[in-house]
Amino acid sequence: MAMIRLGVTGTDTGVGKTTVSRALIGAMRADGLRVAAMKPVETGVTRDDPASDARALAAAAGGMDAMRDVCPIALDEPLAPWMAARRANRAISVASLDASFERLAAGADAVLVEGAGGLLVPITLTDTYLSLFRRWSLAAIVVAANRLGAVNHTLLTVGALHRGAVAVLGVVLNETDGDEPDLARRTNRETIQTLLPDTPVVSFPWLPASTGDTALARAAATAGLRGLLARAAQDQHIEEGQPNR
Ligand SMILES: [Mg+2]
Repeated sequence: MAMIRLGVTGTDTGVGKTTVSRALIGAMRADGLRVAAMKPVETGVTRDDPASDARALAAAAGGMDAMRDVCPIALDEPLAPWMAARRANRAISVASLDASFERLAAGADAVLVEGAGGLLVPITLTDTYLSLFRRWSLAAIVVAANRLGAVNHTLLTVGALHRGAVAVLGVVLNETDGDEPDLARRTNRETIQTLLPDTPVVSFPWLPASTGDTALARAAATAGLRGLLARAAQDQHIEEGQPNR
């Protein structure tokens, strides 16, 4: 049963969760771990879309797991899962997501789960990625796009994780383009790290989506993602904050 259980969430959609997830998976595999990846719900894709996040994650993990477990639910419309499912006349069963997660975890040393959009995106009327992370005892890695606004979005997301009693392994401040960084981009890390002294904040360089898995795994090492993984291996049950109910 997987000892390392990671939940990768973002401060927004399109902030680089999949790229950072592929880098994390590559770094764990380079350490000899058997890794399973999961995108419980993906929207805006058809099941066989070769460009889906689920396929990119599965390939990074070695492609050994059944796609019906890697991505149990794929929905065409690019919306939050709850509404995409409603419009497709489909019901999302969290019990069936649980079963897929348990099958993946049973055969792996580490499981990485990538959310869709941000932390409070509705999967059903009563489930969000926050509740899923809690349910599956995942420790969170928060990916934030390094741009003006990142400070607020990161603090909101980390605060919600703490209130939901989900351990936060760290924040990955991701460069989403290769432009010359402006003042906000040059100072965000210091601001966030100062305000979150107990949470490692690491920078991840801009890399195009076409970057191969090997290069991404190398980037993980230089960007400090290995430090976050070491925290995951040390203690999967760091309890931070209090349950909010
Ligand atoms: Mg993604």
